[in-house]
Amino acid sequence: MEVRAKKFLGQHFLKDENIARQIAESLTGRTSHVLEIGPGMGVLTKYLHANELLDFHAIEIDSESVVYLHDHYPKLHVIEGDFLALNLSELFTQPFAVIGNFPYNISSQILFKVFDNRNQIPEVVGMFQKEVAERVAAKPGSKTYGILSVLLSAFYDIEYLFTVHEHVFNPPPKVKSAVIRLRRNDVDRLECDEALFTKVVKIGFNQRRKTLRNALKQLGMNMDEVPADLLAKRAEQLSVADFVTITQKVK
Ligand code: SAH
Repeated sequence: MEVRAKKFLGQHFLKDENIARQIAESLTGRTSHVLEIGPGMGVLTKYLHANELLDFHAIEIDSESVVYLHDHYPKLHVIEGDFLALNLSELFTQPFAVIGNFPYNISSQILFKVFDNRNQIPEVVGMFQKEVAERVAAKPGSKTYGILSVLLSAFYDIEYLFTVHEHVFNPPPKVKSAVIRLRRNDVDRLECDEALFTKVVKIGFNQRRKTLRNALKQLGMNMDEVPADLLAKRAEQLSVADFVTITQKVK
């Protein structure tokens, strides 16, 4: 039963110390407050914990790992719990960076939570399954460009750092992994209704084979003022700026 339950925690422990160090060193120090998601047996934690200048916290859902972390990193502030349920503004009053070899079963939810808390999170460094990493870092016109690429690149500069082979994990996952870095850009607010922007992006990609004109029909809004060339395109062909223009012009 125990083993079965853990299968759903996305536990794939990184064995390669060099890769762990490289991930930890990919943080560029935008803030000294850091949150690690899912430290597990602490392979990344070790490198972050060694830096005494950091105000370093971690959240881990697996109680066995939490016991291990308490024993090995007595100074670490480990919270036992679910990152998705964590109240971030209660934990940090200052902006903080997010780092981790993330649990892949909740990759998208982690990224949406980062998006929702973007003004508190200046930097994210982390490992995802390669396909998710590629999707996040994708540019308009590519097949993998999607909702998270648009929403996150509106507020973050996104870099695909490196690919990681499955054999460096225990147990090895079924897919390759990759490390990406997101750094908050200087856009405070989009020049449009941001809630509507998110809605337009989601509707556009949920029907990605349709033109924007056809996809947006279900919004029941007036599209007369939206440039016709944008409405004739499909979501995957549109940049953040295009989505902003569309959002400004629908009525
Ligand atoms: N960082 C470690 C472990 C990666 S595996 C390493 O690189 O070796 C992913 C980790 O995330 C596991 O330890 C798992 O228990 C933890 N985890 C899974 N779901 C979580 C959640 N919702 N919140 C916090 N931690 C979670």
